[in-house]
Amino acid sequence: MSTPKNPARLLKRNVTTPIPDIRDLQVAVVGAGFGGIGMGVALRRAGIHRFAIYEKSTEVGGVWRDNTYPGCNCDVPSHLYSFAFAPYRNRHTRYPGQREILAYLRRVADERGLAPHLQLDTAISEATYIEDEGRWELITAAGQRVVADVVIFAVGQLHRPNLPEIPGRADFAGPSFHTARWDHETKLHGLDVAMIGTGSSAAQILPTLAATAPRVRVFQRTPHWVLPKPTIEFGLLARTALLAPGAHHIYRQALYYGADALFAPIMRRGWSAHPAEWVARRYLRRAVDDAVLRAKLTPGYPIGGKRIILDNDYYRTLTHANVELIAEPITRITRDGLMTADGGHHSADAIIYATGFKAPEFLMPVIVRGRGGVQLHDQWHAGATAFLGMAVSGYPNAFLIAGPNSFNPAGSNPAMKEHQIDWIIKCLRWRERTGAAAIEVTEQAMRFHQRWLEQAIGKTVWPIAGTSWYKHSSGAITNPWPASARTYERILRHHPPSDCFRAVP
Ligand code: NAP
Repeated sequence: MSTPKNPARLLKRNVTTPIPDIRDLQVAVVGAGFGGIGMGVALRRAGIHRFAIYEKSTEVGGVWRDNTYPGCNCDVPSHLYSFAFAPYRNRHTRYPGQREILAYLRRVADERGLAPHLQLDTAISEATYIEDEGRWELITAAGQRVVADVVIFAVGQLHRPNLPEIPGRADFAGPSFHTARWDHETKLHGLDVAMIGTGSSAAQILPTLAATAPRVRVFQRTPHWVLPKPTIEFGLLARTALLAPGAHHIYRQALYYGADALFAPIMRRGWSAHPAEWVARRYLRRAVDDAVLRAKLTPGYPIGGKRIILDNDYYRTLTHANVELIAEPITRITRDGLMTADGGHHSADAIIYATGFKAPEFLMPVIVRGRGGVQLHDQWHAGATAFLGMAVSGYPNAFLIAGPNSFNPAGSNPAMKEHQIDWIIKCLRWRERTGAAAIEVTEQAMRFHQRWLEQAIGKTVWPIAGTSWYKHSSGAITNPWPASARTYERILRHHPPSDCFRAVP
């Protein structure tokens, strides 16, 4: 496979020619966000070169390509929100912005030689295990057929916008869009804006909206817990220290262990969350003088029940004269506004849906058929499950990155994905050593893991908190990892593939 002259250009347009024979891939990776890019780099490093990365969009980047709303940034420090093998180079800002992260991902894909492997603008719509061959057949949305020994789904959890079924939504006459599909053609200056939802995306957008719109009405269904974000710019001392050899690595490790120590205990029931809850209440008291507004913003469930918002501007902006927080449930959307349960009509020129993602619907809308033609989504009707978030019994040679219960709400998800990628490579090596065409996680390993997972989830605050994207409609907690990142790392170390996989006859 020859390397193109300017691989960077290939990252931005449809690439259809460089893979010589799409019927004979060793690995097909689905998705070119952090997971897919990291997997591609690891495959090359492992000497696996006959692979393709299928990406539905015309660019790499995943959620950092999709979310371009004003103020979009990351609440995990950049030194940790990056691959260990590709240190983040900005020594000025602790938290990266959306553009920086997207540029970082493009650069990694480019510098690590992924351009010839990228099949952009190519959505995979079906994946079927061919039992006779121990391989996978993938069908693209355009009807192209691809056959690969192994399929790795790296589609993430937060990529399908949730547009709520509020009666009258289609009747609204003005512009309306979801935060992850920001319409940059629509100028919101001078328009009265209604924003539905009060999660991390809403909190980041609100200061920009409030600075330009005459009136912003924020519709809150449930208040989120908010913690202040530590200082954002590095001082001269820190910048100089980060130049020292090994400083980046030491800083990254400190953040990794620090996040585990500080945030993972917050998710557990009991006293360990009390200090964080105390800080959050004090922060709210200091930021919001108005007792009525404060009462509306005070959650009625334990901290950590939903993803905690880390932000310094959200509360402050809610106190601005042109911003109103409406905590009454929305009953209907009309031509020119929103109606609430108290009978009020709130006029709006534009509506922004900061209503999150269909996160518990893993791998949708891809139809995945395993052994015996069994469909994965039928099996997952009451909520998705997978062995350590990565493999499902009955689906040989198929892996997931960021699968069920592997989102780390307390730290860095790129770091979690790197652990998964390393482990998947171990599985591929073990498959090679056994000489088997296909390997599959055993039902016993799945059952054992699921029992452990349910016990661990039972100790968290999630089952007693209300709605969130952590929960399937059945009530099952399907998305977050219920322990620390170190625990995940340790479990993976103690579970070599030979212990939990079998060769498929
Ligand atoms: P989200 O946290 O799921 O928040 C969605 C909001 O919409 C919630 O307030 C929800 O209310 C509300 N909502 C949903 N359906 C509704 C309906 N029918 N009527 C009224 N309100 C409705 O979504 P997000 O803010 O986009 O964030 C999702 C995740 O993305 C975050 O948790 C985080 O992991 C990630 N993110 C990260 C960053 C970062 O800095 N790293 C930034 C942005 C996003 P309820 O709470 O009542 O359900």
